[in-house]
Amino acid sequence: MQPFKLLLTAVACGIITHQVQAMTDHELIREIIRTTQPLSQPRGDRLPLYLWPAHNLGTEDESEIVELLQQLEARGIAAIATWRPYDQAALDEALRLGTIQQRLGLPIAVNANACTYSFFDGDERTAHVDDQGKPFFDPSFGHQPMGCPFALDFRLPEMRRRLAEPSAAYAGAGLELHFVFADWEIDGPIEWNGAWEHSRRCTRCREHIPDIEDFTSFQTSLRQIRSALQRQMLAEPILEHHPHALVGNYAVYPHNGYRYWFDYFEEFVEGAPHKIDGRARYRKWYHEFPETGYTFAMPVVYTWQDIYGWYDFDAPDYRWFYNMLKVGSNAGKSTPADIPVITFVHWHTVLLSDPPPPGLQQFSEEKYQELLWHLLLRGHDTLFMWSVKDEALKESQLVHQVYAASHEYGDFLLHGEPVTFAVPARPGPVVSAVRWDGKLLVRRTDFDATQEPVELQLEDRTLLIPRKDGQCQVIALE
Ligand SMILES: [Zn+2]
Repeated sequence: MQPFKLLLTAVACGIITHQVQAMTDHELIREIIRTTQPLSQPRGDRLPLYLWPAHNLGTEDESEIVELLQQLEARGIAAIATWRPYDQAALDEALRLGTIQQRLGLPIAVNANACTYSFFDGDERTAHVDDQGKPFFDPSFGHQPMGCPFALDFRLPEMRRRLAEPSAAYAGAGLELHFVFADWEIDGPIEWNGAWEHSRRCTRCREHIPDIEDFTSFQTSLRQIRSALQRQMLAEPILEHHPHALVGNYAVYPHNGYRYWFDYFEEFVEGAPHKIDGRARYRKWYHEFPETGYTFAMPVVYTWQDIYGWYDFDAPDYRWFYNMLKVGSNAGKSTPADIPVITFVHWHTVLLSDPPPPGLQQFSEEKYQELLWHLLLRGHDTLFMWSVKDEALKESQLVHQVYAASHEYGDFLLHGEPVTFAVPARPGPVVSAVRWDGKLLVRRTDFDATQEPVELQLEDRTLLIPRKDGQCQVIALE
């Protein structure tokens, strides 16, 4: 999600983005605070909102750190520390932030990503082996030398230590970690791109994968290893010292057996089982989440450029909304109620090419915010806005407006139960609803001119939901 995207993401036009690019991290966080409103009530038990720019407060001054943390908490926004492998100065800074957060009664959040790279570090021992006994790598994932899934055991102690040491340091300082995430993506076994082809050429892979000519068998073997590596590297070292921590990884979440989106580095593999919808190919996916030991789910609901061309809906916004709601509904429906869902979101078209594909229309602000509401009403507990710097201010404002407004319905979102995960196959009214305490919190969003009420089935009852653009509705259930 990071290095390539930073290079590839086209900069949206406009003077504001240039101003943001010129800002220091400190100026940016100040500008986010200045342009967002404090919550109308304390955050309470709701999870905070995570914003990518809140990684760095840009100041060493303790009184200013305290002031910034309080301003952010008033808005429900978490500040996030960054761990780096074997970097004592970075760890000291992170511990200092955590100490202040805990003193203020704020949850400690950590980006552990840098510590998770890389299992495939270029060491020849991690390579595949051909029939002549020669090592070889799979170059189909860009610069990362992807190697043999069955050659990584010797890397595990080193990778685990990178997470175990800071985890223990927090415990030793009496600090309790609340939220630890990584963005571990292009590393370890992945079944896409050229992986299948390379594994079939590897004597070790052929020996270990029972039916390597069957893609599902290949996928299962790789995802089982990938899940175990994540559990041993990330989940266990954190939970050993911080048993109540939320620990998870980008794009790892419970699902219905299919994935409705592609990451920026992934290419479809011919022969892989999939479902077709328009020009989209939804890939069959392995149920990896339970094997990782993660304690929260982290779906990815992004405006990937390609989504727009997959569907032919006349309503341009519905091309985005339809796919993103499918992704979000899949995660929301499949994740047990006691596992928080913390969802990566993004509004500006991701990986917009230059020039953009003919006819592509950016997702509207209005319907993006509607989408965020529907996620919250479909079991997503909070949101994590990822962004490059140019887009970060606007992205922060859009997501924060919805998050802040949702606190009016905090009890529904904390204690309620979603009643529908339906995604209409054509543009029209879309309804999400959460039931709590004899009431229903409803959001209806329309993609055509229909003014009629729509039916919502609730067990044996049929409710009529009127159109109310841009508003939530609370309906008494007697
Ligand atoms: Zn191999």
